[in-house]
Amino acid sequence: MTKLTFHGATGTVTGSRFQLEIDDKNVLIDCGMFQGPRENRRRNWDPFAVSPASFDHVFLTHAHIDHCGYLPRFVKNGFNGKIISSEATADLCKVVLLDSAHIQEEDARWANKKGFSKHDPAEPLYDRQDAEKTIPMFEPLFYGDIYPLSENTNVRFHDSGHILGASLIEFNQRRNDSSTKILFSGDLGRPEIPVLNDPDQVYNVDYLILESTYGNRSHSDVDAREDLERVINESRQRGGVLVIPAFSVGRTQTLLYLIRELEEDGKIPVLPVYVDSPMAIEALKIFDDHIRDFDLYARMQVMQGKDIFRTGNLHIYRSKEESISINDVKSNAIIISASGMVTGGRILHHLARTLPDSKNTVLLIGYQAEGTRGRTLQEKKETVTIHGAKVPINAKVEMIDGFSGHADYFEMLAWLMAFNKTPKKVFIVHGNPEASAAMAEHIKKQYGWDVVIPQLGDSYTLD
Ligand SMILES: [Zn+2]
Repeated sequence: MTKLTFHGATGTVTGSRFQLEIDDKNVLIDCGMFQGPRENRRRNWDPFAVSPASFDHVFLTHAHIDHCGYLPRFVKNGFNGKIISSEATADLCKVVLLDSAHIQEEDARWANKKGFSKHDPAEPLYDRQDAEKTIPMFEPLFYGDIYPLSENTNVRFHDSGHILGASLIEFNQRRNDSSTKILFSGDLGRPEIPVLNDPDQVYNVDYLILESTYGNRSHSDVDAREDLERVINESRQRGGVLVIPAFSVGRTQTLLYLIRELEEDGKIPVLPVYVDSPMAIEALKIFDDHIRDFDLYARMQVMQGKDIFRTGNLHIYRSKEESISINDVKSNAIIISASGMVTGGRILHHLARTLPDSKNTVLLIGYQAEGTRGRTLQEKKETVTIHGAKVPINAKVEMIDGFSGHADYFEMLAWLMAFNKTPKKVFIVHGNPEASAAMAEHIKKQYGWDVVIPQLGDSYTLD
């Protein structure tokens, strides 16, 4: 009997954790952290519903924190099996998990200083040593490789086109003459994201676990490249600086790639671009090491000798001193820094400095969750609180929708169109309740398939 249990990403976009009991194996697909509002984050402190020591494997879809960020805690609490991922995901996780441990340690230090933790002294969810213990447990695979989980079941990773290394994970179980295919979408990418491939097609799936971040939305038809060109040129005309909050891994590289292309095409002037992030150098190195995962067009440019993520006047800053030196930059420059939703990180300093001046521009390029400073900016409120002070939002706030790494409902339906056979069941996860409900309706209406939206802790038998 095969059993699937949902330990996260139900009714929310974070905390992806799915347990699959298959043959005599007990595995977890994704080991994500809960993020966003406090009640969500508090769930990271709950004991895992099943003992981590009872799992043989963790299979990871990709290196975003809401899919991999709980791993060091899982290891700390007894998991001692193998972590299987694509090789780009394994490399990215090394950087991402160490950075996450650093953030956990900083948060605990801050809580102790301010005395607002229930625990005395406040403990980090995990620390650097926990992350360092986790990293050697990875066993990377190439896309398409067969991983024999048991005598009857093979596992295979396919490119999901969401971020570098992101995977669809397929479990294929043979019994007598028949076989059952279970597919986890992770986060499903989109057509035409620069550098990444379109999502791979998988056929004849029996059970699908499908994300629904944009299940109730359709991306606008506007070209992100054209929008970026307009925003950069208008910012230049106003004479101020352009500040772009962006994740260091993935989003920042997409931006650099597009800015370089616009420069080469003569659509924008070559401006100094400052990437201010302790992770950006490592992230770029990982991209350079994984050219084989780029789409054909990007690889052709590499063949032509182009350094595809290096703009004409690029400064990548890692140290605190370098970061502070950007304070002297007052006009005609682009500053890219994390976090993407302005929840923390060095972007706070840059925004506190630049927001009060109407010459400057802030460009939001990703999803801005409820309750984040990014959302406050998006809603064009009068002020935003940074480091305890109310900062007036006088800078121009721009938004570009076309950078999303998630398929919208229409793109997901197009991907499902090729499944060939009707799945026995589709489980909708990783969405706000409205988005998941809308995605379920779209699938029922378009294809008439059996769709369920599981709740936290629900288990299903897959026959
Ligand atoms: Zn993701």
